[in-house]
Amino acid sequence: MLNSPFAATPHDAPEHPVTALAGDPASGILLLCDHASNEIPPEYRALGMSQTQLSRHIAYDIGAAELTRSLSDRLGAPALLTNFSRLIIDPNRGDDDPTLVMRLSDGAVVPGNKWVDDAEIERRLQRFYRPYDRAIKAAIDASLATGVRPIILSIHSFTPVWRSHPRPWHAGILWAKDDRLSRPLIRALARNGDIVVGDNEPYDGGLKGDVIDRHALDHGFSNTLIEIRQDLIGELNDAQAWGQRLVECLKPLLDDPLHRIDFRSSTGSEASHAAEP
Ligand SMILES: [Zn+2]
Repeated sequence: MLNSPFAATPHDAPEHPVTALAGDPASGILLLCDHASNEIPPEYRALGMSQTQLSRHIAYDIGAAELTRSLSDRLGAPALLTNFSRLIIDPNRGDDDPTLVMRLSDGAVVPGNKWVDDAEIERRLQRFYRPYDRAIKAAIDASLATGVRPIILSIHSFTPVWRSHPRPWHAGILWAKDDRLSRPLIRALARNGDIVVGDNEPYDGGLKGDVIDRHALDHGFSNTLIEIRQDLIGELNDAQAWGQRLVECLKPLLDDPLHRIDFRSSTGSEASHAAEP
């Protein structure tokens, strides 16, 4: 609502909603970190949340940014990280999803979102969500321009406990429809012996309109969504160690030419309309 103390003014300072990490577009790998940051521009007055709340998982994926940086380094691949909290707007939702702007998150009311109206959602789409979307498209185009269909790796983290149930997995690999990378990655991680890997755990992978849906599945690009338990990557050293572990598992898989095929044409179902490179 216009008179909400949390509504942004039209005089907001310009900013950069996305951090791009340099990497070789010809690597054919694009790393995405949708929930990298708990930043909220000052005029949103922390959406009425306390610093303690904003340091929790409801504001961002703890450790995911450091893990993404480590993977980008080790794979020589470009990465895109958001610079805004998912409490502002969740880029990993379709732009018409009712949970795009959360009014309630894991039991906590988000006061600054309570009265959010369509005009304010549109402002947030323009200012945060769409620039990230455009950056993803541009990075994909840069890869295609080198003649390589990119593999999309989406990096997230999950809480050790959900509604008082401890989660046993160390890592979860999430996928929808196209499992050509997720299945071998689950097997490779499980071969590590001491790692408990969830197949579409702790939750089912894939929402209509989420980032993988919009940018990978809709274009037939190979992809996987990697979730690591937050307590395992909360410290920089631990995130880097997981980066190393994941790269050891991923590297041999990424070389498989299977990942450069358009999934839509390989399944035949939606292939007839595919005109993309
Ligand atoms: Zn996430």
